[in-house]
Amino acid sequence: MSDIALNGLVISESATPLPEGVTLPIYMDNHATTPMDPRVLEAMLPYFGKIFGNAASRNHQFGWEAEQAVDKAREQVAKLIGASAKEIIFTSGATESNNLAIKGIAEMYREKGNHIITQTTEHKAVLDTCKKLEKMGYRVTYLEVQADGLISMDDLKAAMTPDTILVSIMFANNEIGVIQPVEEIGKLCHERGVIFHTDGVQAVGKIPVDVQKMNIDVLSLTAHKIYGPKGVGALYVRRRNPRVQITEQINGGGHERGMRSGTLNVPGIVGLGAACEIAGAEMEAEAKRQTELRDYLKAKFENALDYVHVNGNMEHHLPGNLNMSFVYVEGESLLMGINDVAVSSGSACTSATLEPSYVLKALGLGDDVAHSSIRFGLGRFNNKAEVDYVSDKIIHVVKHLREMSPLYEMVKEGIDLSKIEWAAH
Ligand SMILES: *Cc1c(COP(=O)(O)O)cnc(C)c1O
Repeated sequence: MSDIALNGLVISESATPLPEGVTLPIYMDNHATTPMDPRVLEAMLPYFGKIFGNAASRNHQFGWEAEQAVDKAREQVAKLIGASAKEIIFTSGATESNNLAIKGIAEMYREKGNHIITQTTEHKAVLDTCKKLEKMGYRVTYLEVQADGLISMDDLKAAMTPDTILVSIMFANNEIGVIQPVEEIGKLCHERGVIFHTDGVQAVGKIPVDVQKMNIDVLSLTAHKIYGPKGVGALYVRRRNPRVQITEQINGGGHERGMRSGTLNVPGIVGLGAACEIAGAEMEAEAKRQTELRDYLKAKFENALDYVHVNGNMEHHLPGNLNMSFVYVEGESLLMGINDVAVSSGSACTSATLEPSYVLKALGLGDDVAHSSIRFGLGRFNNKAEVDYVSDKIIHVVKHLREMSPLYEMVKEGIDLSKIEWAAH
C-alpha cells in the first residue's frame, strides 16, 4: 500500500494495494534514457568535489589525478567494445559523436569521393547530419529497409560506387530494436575500401560489440543509455587496418588527439567508464533476463488480445525492446489510459502536430497502425511484477477503447475496411 502523508494526515492513495516490486510511476522507456546506476553515481561523486583538476594540466598533482581517472575510463570504454584506449575520443554524447564521425570523415576524404550511404531508419543525429552534408554538395543514398526493419545487403552493394567514402548504418534501432547485420556490412566495406561507421548507442553494453571481429571503423556511443550520466559519450576511431582519420569539428586546445577540443568532462567520463564496466560484467545474465521478460510481455498481449502485432524482426532483436501495434486503438489514447507508466508511442511530436514515427512508416505501416504502436523499453531496473502490472493495465485499456471503436466493431462483424468508401465531409 502506498500512502501519501499530507500535513500529518495519511491518505490512502488507492484501495487495492500495489503488488510487491511495483512502485508508481513505472519507467519502461529505457531507449530514451536510463536511470543512473547508483554504482555509477558513487564512482562519479569524488570528481564533483575533491578531485576537480583539469585533465589537461600536465604540471601538477590535481591535473594528474584527473588525467588518471580519464585514462582509466578510456580503458573501460575500450574494453567493452574490443578497442584499444587510444582509439576512444570523448564527446558530449552520441549526437556529437555521430556529427563528428560523419562530418569529420566527409571532410577528410573529400578528395577521394563525395558519396555517403545510410538508411532511412537512422536516428535524427545521423539523418540531419547527412542532410546538412547534402546541402554542402555531398551525395547521400538513404537505403530503404525491408518490412522487418533490416537492410538488404544486395541494396547496399548496389548503392556502392567508386565515389563512396562512408557507410553509416546503426547497430540496433532505438524504436524497433532491430539489429542490423553489422559484421557483414563491415566486411563488405573493408573489401571495397569504404569506411564503416555505426551508431552503436542501443547495442553497446546490451549485446556483444567487438569492433575488430565486426569490422567496425568508427562507432558512436553514449553514457545515458547504459545507466550513466547524460551529456557524455564517445567515438571509437580505428587506428590500424585501416587507419581512419577524422577532421575535427570543434577547434580549441587540441584535446583528444586534436579530434575534439574542449576541457574534458571528468566526472561524466568517469561515469561513462564505470557504466561500461558494469554493463560488460553483467551483460550476459542481464540480456537473458530482459529477453525473458520481453517475451513474457509479448506473450501476454498475444494471448489476451486480437489484432496485435510486433514491429521489427524478432530474431535479430535487442533483449529489452518490444514494439507492438494495438490496431484499432489510438496510441495517444492508450498512453493516457496508462498514465502511471512511462513508455513511448509510435507518434513523434516533431512539430505541433502528431506525426507517425518515420521508422514505423519505413516498415510499411500505415499512419493509423503506426499511431497505434507502443515501444516498451525494458531495462536493468524493471522486474516481472512491473511487466505484469503494465501488461494487465494495457490489456484492460485496449479492450475498453475497442469497445468504443466503430472500426473494431466493423472488423469483428467481418466487414473489409479496405473496401469501404468513406463519405467525405
Ligand atoms: C539516444 C540516441 C542518440 C543520441 O544520443 P545523445 O547522447 O542523447 O546525444 C543517437 N542515436 C541513437 C540510436 C540513440 O538512441
